[in-house]
Amino acid sequence: MNSPENPPSVREIRINPIIPSESVLVATARSMRPKKAEELVPRDTRSHVETCPFCRGNEHKTPPAILTIPDETNWQIRMVENLYPVLGDDRQDANLTFGLQQTIDGYGRHEVIIDHQNHGIALFEMSVSHLALLFQVYRDRMKVLYESDQRLKYVLAFKNFGPAAGASIPHTHSQIIAMPVVPQNVHDEVENSRAYFTKNNHCIFCSLIDEALTFEATIYDRNSGSVRRKISVGQYVIEKGKKFIAIKPFASRFEWEIHILPLNHQADFMTVSNEDLEDFANVLQRSMARLDAVIGGAQYNYFLHTQPQGKEYQDCSSSYHWHLEICPRTSIPTGFELGAGLSVNTISPEQAAEQLRAVKL
Ligand SMILES: [Zn+2]
Ligand SMILES: [Zn+2]
Ligand SMILES: [Zn+2]
Repeated sequence: MNSPENPPSVREIRINPIIPSESVLVATARSMRPKKAEELVPRDTRSHVETCPFCRGNEHKTPPAILTIPDETNWQIRMVENLYPVLGDDRQDANLTFGLQQTIDGYGRHEVIIDHQNHGIALFEMSVSHLALLFQVYRDRMKVLYESDQRLKYVLAFKNFGPAAGASIPHTHSQIIAMPVVPQNVHDEVENSRAYFTKNNHCIFCSLIDEALTFEATIYDRNSGSVRRKISVGQYVIEKGKKFIAIKPFASRFEWEIHILPLNHQADFMTVSNEDLEDFANVLQRSMARLDAVIGGAQYNYFLHTQPQGKEYQDCSSSYHWHLEICPRTSIPTGFELGAGLSVNTISPEQAAEQLRAVKL
């Protein structure tokens, strides 16, 4: 029998059910890469830093505010242009093609959202109402950007937290990049889920949620009759609210990766109601608290995947399903991973989910 201290070792390539090319090698028996996991990274917990351009009182150090909530002196959330945009709207030249080397003009918008006036606050320490407000800001800004310019094909809202996740300024913040192309991974999700829908008349994300909430199976070895694997109901579920669910993907690229999805089918994040965002914020906050309790001082990226705008994506409202992907950074990709295009995960997603669920909140 497998005891909790001695979980079954797993060594298998798991095919991502939505993007088969993004598969994962789950190899728990030996660590195949440098580990940074499980040791506490000291987090900057100061609430105010005199020299920080994102702290209150230093508003003159950022480009002018696009939005302040509720106002410029007592702001809780503040949005500004990025001082070093990766995409800008200053150039309007046509796309260049030179032989096989094609370029698409780096046209777009890059904005920074200062998530909270408290410099070092962690996401799970923010109130549920504040988190709901933050995601309302993402939603409303997306609408404004899409309406402002037909050339914008995708608006990506994301957050980098901690140096391992690429955050250059320690003050908690997130970013919005509006781009002239749909990112390849979103495009792949959209296309593959559309193909699944055409075949099965069902949204693949909804199917995965149903599976997580109902599926139970025992797989026996054909020759010896011994149990090869037991799959139990809810083994991938981290948190469940009234309207949202947090799951550990079966083929997680990152050891502690968590996805949050609406329980009822919804393709476009821009159609989510304020009321539903309260439940979303609750599931997010609890999931992040679990993550922090297990890995301590989590450094992570999160990003929103939603139905892209434009005519060619209009028919995806039944097949696509918006979600937030949370990717904690606990290890550095190795040459094997980059060279093979295969993520390596050294903790089985079932085990990780169990540890996260076991946290007493
Ligand atoms: Zn600050
Ligand atoms: Zn769905
Ligand atoms: Zn996604």
